Amino acid sequence: MAKTGGEMTELIKIDSGEAEIPYNWHCGPYWSRFFRGLRDEKKIYATKCPSCGTVYVPPREVCGPCFAKMEEWVKVGPEGVIEMFTIVKLPYINPSNGKPVNVPYTDVYVRLDGADTCLMHWLDETDEKKIAIGMRVKAVFRKKRTGTMHDIQHFILM
Ligand SMILES: [Zn+2]
Repeated sequence: MAKTGGEMTELIKIDSGEAEIPYNWHCGPYWSRFFRGLRDEKKIYATKCPSCGTVYVPPREVCGPCFAKMEEWVKVGPEGVIEMFTIVKLPYINPSNGKPVNVPYTDVYVRLDGADTCLMHWLDETDEKKIAIGMRVKAVFRKKRTGTMHDIQHFILM
């Protein structure tokens, strides 16, 4: 019950029902190369700009500032540092499946060793007293990998 305008108001939740919308999409050559590295080698691959040297992960085909096509692949991580994090504590409905999301969980931006950009993922820690910007973390790979970002289960504090 939420109080609005001096009176108690019931918040109504409407279920979406059992609708399913199956879909698939092609990742393209760069994301496919990245996902094959996670799935087959437990390695994280990035692209490096031939002009400015910036290393991008997730990989990009073209460097934004230089407009240079990137064709050099480099391994980064699996360790890195926390550049930003958010601990999500407010329950909400996952819009992709209509189910409640388990909270709390921690979103983390990791700058992997050897990379200049950050990879967004999850951190296996939800106690804000134990997390700080600049802390070192390490990727934990799933035993069964299928070629998605979820092949990295999460990051752990080192
Ligand atoms: Zn560049």
